[in-house]
Amino acid sequence: PSISRNLLRNTHAANAKRPASSLVYIEHKDGKMNDSTLHAVTAAKAVGGDVSAIVVGTEGEVASVLDEVKKIDGLAKVFTAKSEGFAHGMAEVNAPALSAFLESPPSTASGPISHLFAAHTAVAKNIFPRLAGSMNVSHVADILSVKHDESSKSTEYTRPIYAGNAILQIKTSAEKDRIGVVSVRTTAFDKASTGGSGADVEEVKVEAATGPTKFISEELTTSTRPDLSAASRVVSGGRALKSADQFNAIMEPLADSLGAAIGASRAAVDAGYADNSLQVGQTGKVVAPELYVAVGISGAIQHLAGMKESKMIVAINKASRDAPRDADAPIFQIADAGLVADLFTAVPELTEKIKAA
Ligand code: FAD
Repeated sequence: PSISRNLLRNTHAANAKRPASSLVYIEHKDGKMNDSTLHAVTAAKAVGGDVSAIVVGTEGEVASVLDEVKKIDGLAKVFTAKSEGFAHGMAEVNAPALSAFLESPPSTASGPISHLFAAHTAVAKNIFPRLAGSMNVSHVADILSVKHDESSKSTEYTRPIYAGNAILQIKTSAEKDRIGVVSVRTTAFDKASTGGSGADVEEVKVEAATGPTKFISEELTTSTRPDLSAASRVVSGGRALKSADQFNAIMEPLADSLGAAIGASRAAVDAGYADNSLQVGQTGKVVAPELYVAVGISGAIQHLAGMKESKMIVAINKASRDAPRDADAPIFQIADAGLVADLFTAVPELTEKIKAA
């Protein structure tokens, strides 16, 4: 134990002297990079120092995503780790591979990695806590900002807590945390630009761990609509829709008329009116579209936590005409435009007007 403690101390001491160097974990699916990764790149750049990326996947996956990744502006290097064992991106396989890479990055890297970033999506939520735990370093999740001080080797982050009602400031230092494992709230950072001339690529050899966890199958919800997390317009339905049939009959034409993604409150999801993947809020997706239309949603703080950064918020709710801002519908307190009406008449009428416009 004393030897490993000394080793640990030496590593911490060495890390405390190195310049900041960030790595971005590239999320991909079906041979395409998930655009939310570009927000993580912007956060990584805010640290200062160089920024590299790593693509972990099967030979085929890496080959099809690589061109897109290389073109991200400002990357010092793109590392690839290929193995058929990385298929399906399981945390049990990818976390040990990342940890092996981070513990001994190739000699061609500009130095040990000080920060690892990814977008705060289901993928990072799955892999990063396991990775940070296994490396005995902190996991800083869902950050809104990052500021690194090279002279003290410390990094300050902010992240929302209590459903976004308070902002927590976190400070880590290289001495205590040799690597910052950080996931990024995509709505808080712009996308990094693409179109670069192509970063250098280096293949690294890391084993795909084999263990008791096996991939069996996955069931994906397919939709031709825009992706909820990235859509510029979102229309969300709540408990007031009263059934799955009515949810679809009211919300789908409205979404079609606006070219919008469909979201839902947790009450609508729990009642089975809408699919789980559509939930917006503290325990669902966080969105910040140009336009967010809340239909029959009261505006509980847990729902607001997922949409209050939207640029234009429209609420349609039958809250009392005499007191439209009453406590029954707190959504009106953050709405830029509110329509006090019965959704079953107002929304079809609105849909027709939008189509005719
Ligand atoms: P309600 O609060 O019942 O509101 C329905 C609204 O519809 C009312 O304002 C009513 O005036 C209006 N209405 C009724 N009939 C009509 C009509 N005919 N026309 C127009 N308006 C009408 N919630 C989320 O949404 N996302 C989350 O991620 C989430 N996470 C949570 C996490 C935790 C730990 C907890 C405790 C709760 C969470 N919730 C979440 C639940 C949240 O507290 C609310 O219960 C939920 O958001 C309410 O959904 P709603 O607005 O659809 O329903």
